[in-house]
Amino acid sequence: MDRYDVVVIGAGAFGLGSAYHLARRGAGSIALIDSLAGPGQGNTGRSVGGYRKGIFTSELNRMLSESTVSFMSDLQRSGVDLGMHNVGYLVLLNGDQLETHERAIREMVRKGNARFLSSDDLGSLVPWMRLDFRGDEEAEMLGLKNVEAALLSDQSGYLDVEKLVNYLHEEIVDAGVELRFGERVKRLRLGPVVSIGHPREPLAWQEKRIDVIESDKSEVRADLVVLATGAWINELLDPLGLDSHVKPKKRQVFSIEAKGELRKFFEVDGLNEYSTLPMTFFPRGPYLTPRVRERALWTGLSDDVGRSWGIDFAPEETFYYDNIYPSLSKVFPVLKDVRPTSSWAGCYSINTIDENPIAFRWSNLIVVTGGSGSGVMKYDAMSRVVASLAFGEEEAVLYTGERLPVSWLGIRNRRAEPESFVF
Ligand SMILES: Cc1cc2nc3c(=O)[nH]c(=O)nc-3n(C[C@H](O)[C@H](O)[C@H](O)COP(=O)(O)OP(=O)(O)OC[C@H]3O[C@@H](n4cnc5c(N)ncnc54)[C@H](O)[C@@H]3O)c2cc1C
Repeated sequence: MDRYDVVVIGAGAFGLGSAYHLARRGAGSIALIDSLAGPGQGNTGRSVGGYRKGIFTSELNRMLSESTVSFMSDLQRSGVDLGMHNVGYLVLLNGDQLETHERAIREMVRKGNARFLSSDDLGSLVPWMRLDFRGDEEAEMLGLKNVEAALLSDQSGYLDVEKLVNYLHEEIVDAGVELRFGERVKRLRLGPVVSIGHPREPLAWQEKRIDVIESDKSEVRADLVVLATGAWINELLDPLGLDSHVKPKKRQVFSIEAKGELRKFFEVDGLNEYSTLPMTFFPRGPYLTPRVRERALWTGLSDDVGRSWGIDFAPEETFYYDNIYPSLSKVFPVLKDVRPTSSWAGCYSINTIDENPIAFRWSNLIVVTGGSGSGVMKYDAMSRVVASLAFGEEEAVLYTGERLPVSWLGIRNRRAEPESFVF
């Protein structure tokens, strides 16, 4: 039976980052197991790769994303191409949203994390974008209200997730992490911390630990097990009677080729260095991302009640036409009658309490999951939290030097304010 100091299960952003930080900190022999053929092929590879810096209202979100984005930006500056494009985040706001978020917006602008654009500013920069829906019954039915202003965050944008995965992959190979792809973990077998030789150990009164990792190929032992299986987390936790409070939900992305009139999205002056429209968000509505290299527009929408929990990777063409197209084509009339050319779906792993990620330790098991729709932009901070949990530290030191109490990410003593800037 193979034996390691640490086994990380799941080679997505959280698992790769955890292996990286554990190796960097000298955690001993490490193996990384994933059922798929290579790294980042789960939901990490299905991500849009968007990152936002400083435009969160929750302190925890701010710390996790700001430090991760700073790390990635410095890496990119040092010559490692992560395909980062600071195209900006443009958050459209109607009158109600302006009022609700007034304080948060003022604070973001004061700190220099975002610029405030009036509807006149926006109208003169993107004259083909519709901001006024008065008298439009269809728009009213869709719940679209006049765009009164927008918030522009220059330090936000998107990266090429595959490049980030390749970087982490190379780093952990160099650090001596053993990669075991194409191996599916079937069960985490419990054992007693102190054995009395009873045939049905561990008994209810015995202190327990993960004794054996059973996969479809072998059995492995480890002093420490990091479970980073994202949306699949419950498959291995439920049989143990442990709860991560995370459930999977399908999310879909539709890609539209930017040809003909749609080139407009790539000919916008004054909003970013790429002359594109920034990633544009309708709060609680769809988003649209002009992709510079792909010359495509990516769009999606996070639906809530009515979308069942569960693992499902099948994109639904009708979802675009029924749910995204109506409001998207109102705001961008140039998209009228335009069809997506491709689509894909992945699963968010959603913490159903406050939608922030989760990391906790039980015995020799560390659980890290709940990346939801922002796991990539938070992966480095979360991976540092995992390393701190492994070393029994109360605080993780983030890339920015900020100290984050690891209990804030746990189940007990959790401190995760609900985020009010959700799109
Ligand atoms: C459509 C979509 C768009 C997104 N857009 C963004 C975005 O713009 N910005 C952002 O920051 N985030 C985004 N996200 C979220 C982000 O992708 C996730 O939060 C992040 O990738 C989660 O990483 P993870 O390591 O937890 O999970 P995953 O990447 O899913 O990794 C889990 C791994 O565990 C493996 N695994 C599972 N079970 C087993 C088992 N039994 N044995 C062995 N291996 C197993 C899987 O094969 C998988 O590789 C998006 C997600 C989706 C689906």
